[in-house]
Amino acid sequence: KQLTIQSSSHAYDVIIGAGLRKKLSQKLGKSYKKILIVTDSKVSSLYLEDVKAGLPDHENLSHVIVPAGEASKSMEQYSRLLDKCIEEQLDRSSLIVGLGGGMVGDLAGFVASTYLRGVDFLQMPTTILAHDSSVGGKVAINHEQGKNLIGSFYSPVQVIYDTDTLRTLPDSEVRSGYGEVVKHALLSDMDWVKEVLSEDFSELSYSQLGDHLLAGIKVKASIVEEDEKEHGVRRHLNLGHTLAHALESDLGYGEITHGEAVAIGIFFAMKVSEKVLESTLPVDAYSAWLKTNEYPVEKLSNLNPERLVNRMKWDKKTIEDRIHFVLLKGVGSPAVVPIPEDDLVNHLKEFIEEVI
Ligand code: NAD
Ligand code: ZN
Repeated sequence: KQLTIQSSSHAYDVIIGAGLRKKLSQKLGKSYKKILIVTDSKVSSLYLEDVKAGLPDHENLSHVIVPAGEASKSMEQYSRLLDKCIEEQLDRSSLIVGLGGGMVGDLAGFVASTYLRGVDFLQMPTTILAHDSSVGGKVAINHEQGKNLIGSFYSPVQVIYDTDTLRTLPDSEVRSGYGEVVKHALLSDMDWVKEVLSEDFSELSYSQLGDHLLAGIKVKASIVEEDEKEHGVRRHLNLGHTLAHALESDLGYGEITHGEAVAIGIFFAMKVSEKVLESTLPVDAYSAWLKTNEYPVEKLSNLNPERLVNRMKWDKKTIEDRIHFVLLKGVGSPAVVPIPEDDLVNHLKEFIEEVI
C-alpha cells in the first residue's frame, strides 16, 4: 500500500506493508553514501539487525541507540546524536533513519532538520501511534518545562512502515495507537468509525490494521496539506487532546500513554458535543469499545476537575484566555468551540461521575 504526501517543500511517499524492514535497499528512493540509523533500546534488539541486513550494498552504515522512553527526547540525547553525526562524517548527501515509535521519529527528525541545516530523513515507524507522528512534518525534543518545546517543521523523504513490527507491541501501546486511529476515523466517516469501534484488540487483524493506518495517514495528510503550520483546520487534529494533555501531566507521564489519554479525551469531547451542539454521535458504541479494550478510564476517579481545567489553560494550543475545544457536530464534521471555564469544570465533574 502506498500514498504520496505533498509537504510545502517536497512530495514524499508512504509505503505500508508486511516485512518491509528487510527490504530497505529496494524501497529507497535513491542511494546514499552514508546512512545513520537512530533507534531505541527496545526496538534495536527486535529489528535493527533486520534493517541493516536489508541494506547489504551500504558499507557506510552506522547506528546509534538511545534509551527507550520519552525521556530520550532530550537535549542530552540530541547533543549525543549530533556528536555521532560528526564522528561518522555525515555530509549533505547522507541519510538519517528513524527506526522506532514517535519518540525516535521526533528526536531523529529534529537532528536531521538541524545537522548541516538539514539532511535527508527517513521514517521507519514501529508503533501504531507513529502513523500519526511520522507524517505532518513536526519534529521536536522536550524541555523540562514542557513537551515538544524545541522543534521544527521538517518532512521526511520517505516513510517505510513495516506492519509486521507492530506484532510485538505491548497492549498499552496498541491502545495508545488506536487512540489516534479512532480520532482520524471520527474526523472522517461513519463506516470507518463503526469498523474501528467493532475492534477487539485481543483478536487484532494485522492486514485490517494496515488499512486503518493508511486511512489514518490519509486523513492527517489531507488536513496538513491544507494547513501545515496550524493556523486553521490542523487544529481539528487536536480532537481529544486538550483533556489528554491535562491528564498526561496531571497523572504523570508514564502513568498513562498518550493515545490512551487521547481516547478518553475524545470520549469527553463527544459528551460535551452532545450537550453543547446537540450532536448525535455513537457514544454508546464508543463507551463499549473503551471497556472491551481496557482503556484506563478508572484513572479519572481521583482527579480534581478545577485542577485539570487549570492545566488546560496552560496548553500551548489555547488561544487567548478562553479554552477552545475541538467538538464534533457529527462524525466527519469537527468544530472549534470556545467553552467558558466554569462550564468546563461542570462538564468534567459530570463526565467523571458518569464514566467511573
Ligand atoms: P515511543 O516511541 O516511546 O514508543 C512506545 C514504546 O514502545 C517504547 O517503549 C518503545 O521502545 C516501544 N516500541 C516501539 N516499537 C515497538 C515494537 N515494534 N515492538 C515493541 N515495542 C516497541 O512512543 P510512541 O507512542 O510511538 O510515540 C510517542 C511520541 O510521539 C511522543 O514523544 C509524542 O510527542 C510524539 N508524537 C509526535 C507527533 C508529531 O506530529 N510529530 C504526533 C504524535 C505524537
Ligand atoms: Zn496525539
